[in-house]
Amino acid sequence: MMLSTPPAILVDQPIKTWFGVGGVARRLAVPRTAAELRELIAAEPNAKILGDGANLLVADGGVQELVISLAGPGNGELAASDLSAAAGAAVGDAVEVDAGAAVHLFRLIRSTTDAALSGLENLAGIPACIGGAAAMNAGGKYGSFGDYVVHVDAIDRRGSAVRLSREACGFGYRTSVFGHGELIVTGVRLRLVKGELAPVKAKLKEVTEYKTSTQPMSASSAGCAFKNPTLKVAIEGIGAAGQRVSAGMLIDRAGCKGMTIGTASVSEQHGNFLTASKEGKADDVLALIRAVRAKVAERFGVTLETEVVIWGAEL
Ligand SMILES: Cc1cc2nc3c(=O)[nH]c(=O)nc-3n(C[C@H](O)[C@H](O)[C@H](O)COP(=O)(O)OP(=O)(O)OC[C@H]3O[C@@H](n4cnc5c(N)ncnc54)[C@H](O)[C@@H]3O)c2cc1C
Repeated sequence: MMLSTPPAILVDQPIKTWFGVGGVARRLAVPRTAAELRELIAAEPNAKILGDGANLLVADGGVQELVISLAGPGNGELAASDLSAAAGAAVGDAVEVDAGAAVHLFRLIRSTTDAALSGLENLAGIPACIGGAAAMNAGGKYGSFGDYVVHVDAIDRRGSAVRLSREACGFGYRTSVFGHGELIVTGVRLRLVKGELAPVKAKLKEVTEYKTSTQPMSASSAGCAFKNPTLKVAIEGIGAAGQRVSAGMLIDRAGCKGMTIGTASVSEQHGNFLTASKEGKADDVLALIRAVRAKVAERFGVTLETEVVIWGAEL
């Protein structure tokens, strides 16, 4: 029997995030199989899981815990997908597709839409790996990741494998049971629908264009910094009690657009995007998050909750 060597633990590694700020991982591992991931977690139950780093702010002091990267081809079988069920499907048929946690969402969108499978084009433009997309239930105007899930394979912090049906995943607005850190996604099964290539690609283009025309996609950010809040009481000109309203609109109306602290700014294009300049500092982004939150609370009495996940610092 061939014994596989456990993944090497690399020291003082940069943590790749879309913000492009923050310190290093003192120790980082890149598992290639679910078994390796289980071993790592069983040994270090408080390890942090890194996907594409698109919803992550790492403090300037870095991260002391082991960081486990599930972020791309280096993850071997965890970065593989299987679209074989699409072969021979007729238009209108449901087709189930498997993908590992480390598969990049944009690659899966490309391969499924190339195969005329409809569904994931609705998530075009959202940077993520599959595990991060499931954990955050990534989505927007056109739909959310959880809409397409049949089941999710995960491991718990003791290293035991579990399979959760979509109903058990607790998908809600930018949340799921995987977003709390106890369960680590290793792979998903998605249900898509075989369509005609031209309309599937046309929808992909429409969603991509909407995304790039409304959000500063090329700036260094983590997408929306805050969740859209549900109003506890009615606010004139904003919304009724119980209504979910746009955090970007509140930020804008509180006069925060363009606000800058050191190397961090509130985007002029979209108030809920906080951006960092080249050579930026996480401390500046953290200070800006606090300042924006204080301004919105002062103006509207609404406390914004962060959507961005923060490692190594408290707000
Ligand atoms: C330009 C830009 C645009 C964006 N637009 C959108 C948008 O339209 N809609 C939207 O919803 N989001 C958007 N985001 C945010 C981001 O794309 C999503 O939150 C995405 O789901 C993050 O996935 P990730 O793999 O990058 O996760 P990461 O940022 O690496 O991690 C985020 C959280 O998920 C956890 N996690 C990662 N992998 C796993 C795993 N395998 N198992 C369990 N937990 C895991 C991490 O520990 C962390 O807590 C945007 C971000 C950027 C930079």
